[in-house]
Amino acid sequence: MPITVKTFASLGEAASALAADRGARFLAGGTLVMRAINEGDTSFSTVVRSTDRGFAEIRPASARVTLGAGVTMAQIMANRELAFLHPVARAVGGPAIRNMATVGGNLFAPSPYGDFTAALLALDATLSMQGSYGGRETPLEEFLANRERNNGLVSSVTFNRPATPEAFRFRKVARVKPKGISVLSIAAHLPMNGGRIAGARVAYGAMAPTPIRAKSVERALEGRALDEAGTAAAVAVAAEGTSPATDALASAWYRREMIAVHLKRLLAGTA
Ligand SMILES: Cc1cc2nc3c(=O)[nH]c(=O)nc-3n(C[C@H](O)[C@H](O)[C@H](O)COP(=O)(O)OP(=O)(O)OC[C@H]3O[C@@H](n4cnc5c(N)ncnc54)[C@H](O)[C@@H]3O)c2cc1C
Repeated sequence: MPITVKTFASLGEAASALAADRGARFLAGGTLVMRAINEGDTSFSTVVRSTDRGFAEIRPASARVTLGAGVTMAQIMANRELAFLHPVARAVGGPAIRNMATVGGNLFAPSPYGDFTAALLALDATLSMQGSYGGRETPLEEFLANRERNNGLVSSVTFNRPATPEAFRFRKVARVKPKGISVLSIAAHLPMNGGRIAGARVAYGAMAPTPIRAKSVERALEGRALDEAGTAAAVAVAAEGTSPATDALASAWYRREMIAVHLKRLLAGTA
């Protein structure tokens, strides 16, 4: 089936084109869209692109960082001010994928993909959505809860810069090294106040149909020191609220068993 490609100078025009045509799909880096086209997916016949310059812009302001949704994993790895995100970007596929894979595309990537999105969830990200009638802000958690129904265009994502580099931790578990797909991933933002955790946010990738927050773990960590006793309560509830899939990489049972092991290592700093 022939595919029509439409390129727009602004995200607003691209959003209007998407809203007007149910058979249109937005193309960012194309690592998933082009694969679908090559595999003969007939659920769309038009591809919409945008050359809007802001779409691929990094704005690393001091406390809040903004990434255009078209920023690639390779761009993140090349930016020194985003050093805390380098391990996350490096965990997405191999070099060829990272050259193309975007932050926005990762938000829509089906589980077990979505490693970068898990990190954004731990960093309390907000999405800027571009509709045909203007823009709006949506918390990432809310967006993910309704992802299947969401057909808007994400223009950028804004999130907290960790207070210190040690306050942000990320771990991806894969069977194939170094670029396998996730058995699971864990991201944690653990700000400390007087030696105790204050405002923990912990997120999992591949442990549910979309990346999720591990709210029981967050509650268990709150006000505790990051020592053996402090982390034991969190590890005990590691699998609460998860609903992982069984797929070619791992069974749901295995993922539930492994999450506690890797959460313990992440909290102990042995990741
Ligand atoms: C070999 C291979 C290995 C991979 N490894 C990993 C991995 O280790 N970890 C991982 O997380 N992912 C992985 N992926 C999945 C994918 O490459 C990434 O998730 C990537 O970030 C997707 O971004 P993209 O720009 O290429 O998305 P695209 O293919 O361009 O788009 C994907 C979907 O998102 C929609 N979309 C894209 N951008 C926007 C936007 N701004 N607003 C609204 N909708 C949008 C598209 O319409 C489409 O439905 C892998 C993929 C492949 C093929």
